[in-house]
Amino acid sequence: MSVIEYDVIVIGAGTAGLTATAWLAEQKLRVALVTAGEPTACLSTGCIDVCSRDDQPLAGIAGLPDGHPFHRVSPEMLGQSLDDFRQMMADMDMPYKGALEKNRRVLSAIGTFKNTCLVPATMEASPQSDDERIHLITFTGLKDFYPGYILSRFPNASFSSYDAGVSTTMGIAANFEDSAFLETFLLWLERQKIREDKIAFPAVLGLESAFSVLKQIESRLERPVFEIPTLPPSMPGRRLFNAMKDHLRRRGGVIYWNWPVVGVERSGRQIEAVTTEAQGRPNSLNARAFILSTGSFVGGGLYAKRDRIVEKVFDLPVFAPENRDDWFDQDYFSMNHGIGQAGIAVDDAFCPTDSPWNNIFVCGSILARTETLKNGCGHGFAIATGRAAARSCLERLK
Ligand SMILES: Cc1cc2nc3c(=O)[nH]c(=O)nc-3n(C[C@H](O)[C@H](O)[C@H](O)COP(=O)(O)OP(=O)(O)OC[C@H]3O[C@@H](n4cnc5c(N)ncnc54)[C@H](O)[C@@H]3O)c2cc1C
Repeated sequence: MSVIEYDVIVIGAGTAGLTATAWLAEQKLRVALVTAGEPTACLSTGCIDVCSRDDQPLAGIAGLPDGHPFHRVSPEMLGQSLDDFRQMMADMDMPYKGALEKNRRVLSAIGTFKNTCLVPATMEASPQSDDERIHLITFTGLKDFYPGYILSRFPNASFSSYDAGVSTTMGIAANFEDSAFLETFLLWLERQKIREDKIAFPAVLGLESAFSVLKQIESRLERPVFEIPTLPPSMPGRRLFNAMKDHLRRRGGVIYWNWPVVGVERSGRQIEAVTTEAQGRPNSLNARAFILSTGSFVGGGLYAKRDRIVEKVFDLPVFAPENRDDWFDQDYFSMNHGIGQAGIAVDDAFCPTDSPWNNIFVCGSILARTETLKNGCGHGFAIATGRAAARSCLERLK
């Protein structure tokens, strides 16, 4: 078995873990990120939901129930982490727009509006009301996008359909990376004689270079263009993840990819190492502290057995409704399923309460009482708690 030593090991490459790792690397710690695979960001719209239950994210957070982990992040820390996020994404040529002061609306693939805080610049021109005049471009055979629903909700909208030669989101996005394809497409677009004020696309304008492709279309058609996030798997979510991952690598961050943590080594009240399974042999990653950011059920951090919910890496105590009957509401679409509260309860330093170990910090959607969907506390919450947990970890190590 090979043994590698770090100051900090971060477990899980979601927006929380990537934020925590990048920040610790900037503080010159020896830090590594170990992950089983891709995060839920790849399923998301790429928009940064901080707290979508109110038009003003900070007012929304203030109204969250006592005990919600967002109350452990100061507004200054939240503002700083979002400023750093915006700067990072601008450096990666994937700028974000929006402000913590006010949420904005983004048109969805089924014609409804989503309330969110920061949006990729490719969605900046998204309409804020359904009376705007938009022209929708659709692609032959593309699933996960429903122009009919959008057109039925927008009385001043029309559409054109283009055959890109492929019909998958990724396939069309890959085509837009090719300058010859883009030029042929632009010539077709000019022939459509579009009269509406804005042009809308499903989010397929490139794998990584959507912002530059969008700017080229805007300049040729001389009007605002915007992307509409498609259903998962979504290109803007993948772009977000890839940009955060590449930024970390550029900063010299180490990522152990496809290395699920399968065991831990303990001594007294300390975790000394995590064991991972990679290329057919175990590896031991030693560190002075560990940050757990393995996500909730979708990410793989939590697992529901018949009678209890378990945290899969350290077997930390999980906060959850005691009685299984209280895990679910009778109404399937209800936002009040008790299981949404399940997770790891932490103190002000983001250390798990009632844990036998004193060198573990926790962040992101695995935190108890988060209720990601109900409160609209998505990537914004993960980024802020990732930063907060990393800072507590650094202070402890000092
Ligand atoms: C379908 C869907 C759509 C969403 N859309 C949005 C949106 O548009 N905007 C928004 O702001 N939020 C959205 N969210 C919520 C948002 O994705 C999450 O709140 C946020 O990404 C959580 O990040 P995280 O870092 O806590 O965990 P995750 O993203 O869940 O990442 C967990 C990571 O841990 C790794 N992992 C798990 N177990 C192990 C192990 N044993 N060893 C090593 N690694 C492990 C996983 O591979 C993964 O990389 C959406 C969520 C879903 C499910």
